[in-house]
Amino acid sequence: GAKIIDGRAVAREMRAEQKLRVEALKEKTGVTPGLAVVLVGDDPASALYVANKVKACDAVGITSFSHRFPATITNEELLGLIETLNADPAVHGILVQLPLPRHIDMAKVLETITPEKDVDGFHLYNVGALVVGRQIFPPCTPYGVMNLLKHENIPIEGRNVVVVGASNIVGKPMALMLMAQDATVAICHAKTRDLAQFTILADILVVAAGVPNLILPQMVKTGVVVIDVGINRLPDGRVVGDVDFEGVSKKASYITPVPGGVGPMTITMLIDNTILSAERSTGLRTDDPREEAVA
Ligand code: NAD
Repeated sequence: GAKIIDGRAVAREMRAEQKLRVEALKEKTGVTPGLAVVLVGDDPASALYVANKVKACDAVGITSFSHRFPATITNEELLGLIETLNADPAVHGILVQLPLPRHIDMAKVLETITPEKDVDGFHLYNVGALVVGRQIFPPCTPYGVMNLLKHENIPIEGRNVVVVGASNIVGKPMALMLMAQDATVAICHAKTRDLAQFTILADILVVAAGVPNLILPQMVKTGVVVIDVGINRLPDGRVVGDVDFEGVSKKASYITPVPGGVGPMTITMLIDNTILSAERSTGLRTDDPREEAVA
């Protein structure tokens, strides 16, 4: 059977280190990292995500600033808020919880966040940096996956990686990060014909489609490393990933569970980006270990 990668345990370890980093920064510079979290509308899932992010900030000593607005907020009001946060020295990271209501120009909102505070990594500048192999603020979910692979000492260079899902927030940046470490990457999506002919080749399979039981045991080879990013709530209330966990874990060498795999890492990487931003803002940190790592 596969080794189950315990994302909660890895996240806990990383957060203990992050807490020390925050304390050291405060002691050396008097600066406390600050994260502004913007929530528009009353979607319960978004409210839960935001609450979890605020809680995680508290736990490591980051100050969070919550900004909640009704779905009726105008583009001008939202952009005005972002300009204010851009100029606020107590704010090192700005996170706008997605999705936004349909009348809001999401692209414009994301591009108004100054790249120096774009801890979600969605600004075009940061996306472009990722394309050319620099990581200024890597998007949190794929960056969490990279840290899980690193924690388990799973080699990436030269291996066949298949990413199922090609969204801007998970699949595409995931593929870029893996390419930056010299994997051979294939990206599959909803229009891919015969998904199994690709997945069967994978040494490492990352699945982020949002489709329960998309990956079945006959679609993977023995020894595959399976990272399940999917989060699906079934009609009976159970939360599952995109992979047939029971079946696939019999063939895989490593597998992430849902919940308790990639999920806890996403917020951990948001915290990481926020601390890094605060460190950069003090000028204390001119080096950038991440850029070296992917050069
Ligand atoms: P999305 O809906 O934006 O994109 C889904 C992608 O999967 C698309 O590229 C689509 O073409 C592809 N896809 C859909 N059906 C497919 C099929 N049958 N075969 C192959 N590809 C298919 O979703 P997203 O935002 O990228 O999220 C993907 C999943 O990951 C969702 O379940 C989401 O809840 C989850 N997610 C988890 C975390 C986390 O922290 N663990 C973070 C973000 C998203």
